[in-house]
Amino acid sequence: MLGYIGAMKIVHVASELFPYMKTGGLADAVAALAGTLADLGHEVSVFLPGYRTALEHADAKRAERTCRIKIEMGDAFISGDVWAFSPRKNLKVHLICREEFFDRGHPYGTEERDYEDNADRFIFFAKGAVEALRLSDLQADVVHAHDWQASLVPLFLRDAERRHGLTLAMKTVFTIHNIAFQGVFPARMFSRTNLPDELNAIDGLEYYNQINLMKGGIMFADRVTTVSPRYAKEIQTPEFGCGLDGVVQTRADDIVGLLNGIDIAVWNPAVDALLPARFSAANLAGKAVCRMQLLKSQSFDAKFTGPVFGMICRLTDQKGIDLLLANADFFLRENTRLIILGTGAKRYEDALHALAARAPHKISLCAKHDEPMSHLIEAGSDFFIMPSLFEPCGLNQMYSQAYGTVPLVSQVGGLADTVTDADADAANGTGLTFPATAEGLEDGLQRSLKLFADKPSLAKVQKRGMDRDFSWAKAAASYEQLYQDSL
Ligand code: ADP
Repeated sequence: MLGYIGAMKIVHVASELFPYMKTGGLADAVAALAGTLADLGHEVSVFLPGYRTALEHADAKRAERTCRIKIEMGDAFISGDVWAFSPRKNLKVHLICREEFFDRGHPYGTEERDYEDNADRFIFFAKGAVEALRLSDLQADVVHAHDWQASLVPLFLRDAERRHGLTLAMKTVFTIHNIAFQGVFPARMFSRTNLPDELNAIDGLEYYNQINLMKGGIMFADRVTTVSPRYAKEIQTPEFGCGLDGVVQTRADDIVGLLNGIDIAVWNPAVDALLPARFSAANLAGKAVCRMQLLKSQSFDAKFTGPVFGMICRLTDQKGIDLLLANADFFLRENTRLIILGTGAKRYEDALHALAARAPHKISLCAKHDEPMSHLIEAGSDFFIMPSLFEPCGLNQMYSQAYGTVPLVSQVGGLADTVTDADADAANGTGLTFPATAEGLEDGLQRSLKLFADKPSLAKVQKRGMDRDFSWAKAAASYEQLYQDSL
């Protein structure tokens, strides 16, 4: 195709889409990307499993059944329905429905373990999306699959084209939101794909006598993306590649990292209705009100004048909770406040509760999911701590900058791409960065005390962060460019 300009037909396939199903950043990223591309005038479709929460959502009241699908899964045929609705102009959401697979409380499993039939569920989903594309005769310019649950879409699409002798899409794109989750299943599940046997080999889906669905996406999509440039490089190394670094390396020429954006309608201190007061770079008075409210909410002295540190995250290894715990003495010793919001692994909840119990007047853990509280922490803190061991993109370091809260981040993935160290680059610094080790974090914490004591420098760092553009408009423009380049 020559110099493709103008509106494209773009199809996303993903296992999460805000507000119909969300467990993490994937849901927000797909929703914001699809919505922004639709607003730009492209014809956008998103395929999502027909979860109960999606079917019960008010938007789905207007859904219409668009087709009935019969999907070959091994030596059986499994049927389902496709329902579609349009939540906004140029955007259509298609739900691949089969109660047996998707009418459950959680998308992937219970607290203890993943569902036993996840290979069947998501192979059915990916095949269902391709079959629905075929039946609808949509003729997509780009089919864009996200994470392991949709990673076989590029392969199924080309396989369907070969079987039926037609073209379903010009190009395919696969995005890795987190390479730590790969969809690894017993080798016998390969039969469910009905793909040619040669793909059940080392240069196919085979992976240490099992099958690895994400490997299929990385190997067979026309373009591969990650959600930050640094992460695209990191996952080509054994330290970050989670066993797929060699596979990613084979696509080194076709892989690109495009930063996620943040939803500036929701995360903007100038209009944030969840805050007791609003503020902007030009007038920070409201930030002081938020700070007082935050201190009060934890029963801390509201007149405290030292630095307030905030942290919001899932309590998992990834988020560097061990590095924080290794620096417990800093918070016990120094005249600071530390407020953590997060749930997750019980051992971390217990350890953080124990830490807070040692100094209840200055350290607190809120072990719950609380959206308004997360806004108050972002607005009311002086510093935001994010010592992740790896971070494909990360959102809170961007929210922090938008809210004039100086992020303290480890130098990994999207954190390294979005925060500039104020000591290393005095003219452009927006935060403090350090190696992802306990000593690294200690160094960052020490430097934050110095920065806090130097109010003119602190104000400059805050303002530069607030002036940065982390909007999805910018992020979506890079995807648009990628699609056009690939076409
Ligand atoms: P990840 O997707 O790895 O969890 P991100 O930083 O990309 O990390 O996104 C996490 C999102 O979830 C952020 O918007 C963060 O504020 C939010 N979040 C995490 N834990 C909580 C919580 N306990 N309460 C409210 N929001 C939370």
